[in-house]
Amino acid sequence: MNNCLFCRIVAGEIPSKKIYEDDEMLIFYDIKPMAPVHFLVIPKKHIDNLMELEKTDAALAGRLFFKAQETAKELGCEDGGGRFVVNAKKDGRQTVNHLHIHFLGGCKLGGFGAGIGWQLKNT
Ligand code: 5GP
Ligand code: ZN
Repeated sequence: MNNCLFCRIVAGEIPSKKIYEDDEMLIFYDIKPMAPVHFLVIPKKHIDNLMELEKTDAALAGRLFFKAQETAKELGCEDGGGRFVVNAKKDGRQTVNHLHIHFLGGCKLGGFGAGIGWQLKNT
């Protein structure tokens, strides 16, 4: 039994607000949005995180990013842009261990350094 949260969303065991789906990926809204537009792009196949990406998954990763960009445009963020984020493993504070790209947009976001901390302590 797979206990991965996002695998369970892919399987339809946990509901999500889907934006796009095809054979290899799913795009859905984040349950706790941190911007007016905040969605997640995931491969249907389980990959733990970007550090575990295999060379054979490179084309898939490219398609995830391309579809993230298309979706951001479709949701009205072409002019303003936004932030594409991939957290990986513990130092990146990844909380769901299934590769995902966040897109945040729809408003002018806080500075990139705001949520990072290290620079504040070390400069
Ligand atoms: P991470 O911190 O791993 O980069 O991001 C995980 C994201 O998944 C968080 O932004 C969190 O709000 C979102 N999330 C966690 N559980 C669920 C869920 O059950 N449904 C949806 N749609 N998003 C979730
Ligand atoms: Zn998974």
